[in-house]
Amino acid sequence: MEKLSIEQVKEMLIYVADRIIENKPYLTEIDSAIGDGDHGIGMAGGMQKAKAKLEAQESFDSVYDIFAMAGKAMLMSMGGASGVIFGSLYLAGAKGMEPGTELTAEDLAAMERKSLEAVKERGKASVGDKTMVDALEPAVEAMEAACHKGLLEMLKEAEKAAYQGVENTKGQLAKYGRAKSLLERAIGHQDAGATSVAIIFRSMREFVEKGGK
Ligand code: ADP
Ligand code: MG
Repeated sequence: MEKLSIEQVKEMLIYVADRIIENKPYLTEIDSAIGDGDHGIGMAGGMQKAKAKLEAQESFDSVYDIFAMAGKAMLMSMGGASGVIFGSLYLAGAKGMEPGTELTAEDLAAMERKSLEAVKERGKASVGDKTMVDALEPAVEAMEAACHKGLLEMLKEAEKAAYQGVENTKGQLAKYGRAKSLLERAIGHQDAGATSVAIIFRSMREFVEKGGK
């Protein structure tokens, strides 16, 4: 598959939302180990709102309007640190993109780069700080390196890089969020937000691998 249509982008974001929603207990468990345990609830709630908004709208003029609508719904409904961060993931990526009715691998890579820059600017976290940036930054780099191979190959590489990033967070001390106060006790535990990022990339890969349906 070379590119996604407007309808496919909408279906993809609904598919991603469903995967996050079904992983609510898993994400809660991870955040409970070193956070306050609300990450699954926040993510699932935000994705539920995003899904409802997308389903309620019949047609879109641009693929980026779809990401923007989902991002706004998450931003407004989730609250907390992760509401802003994960809302930005979709919203900041869509911002400033030339409106279009198709999404190519290059487009998606460009979007995710903008998302990453926005998240880093807002949250100040870098790779190694045990946050979602540890999954997102390597995924974006993998996408940029592989976007010429097409959507599926690119997303496979992004997924792999994101999951490696999640693995890396196990060995890290947290510099942000509630895990910060745990110091060494956070070692051995993966970051919840990084796990969400990996699930999002895995879900996009699955959707494209299924043929965009
Ligand atoms: P809260 O921290 O408000 O309880 P969540 O539990 O929903 O919010 O989300 C926690 C996740 O947010 C962390 O696992 C981490 O990945 C991400 N996070 C926290 N602070 C930052 C930051 N400054 N930059 C990027 N990601 C962050
Ligand atoms: Mg939390």
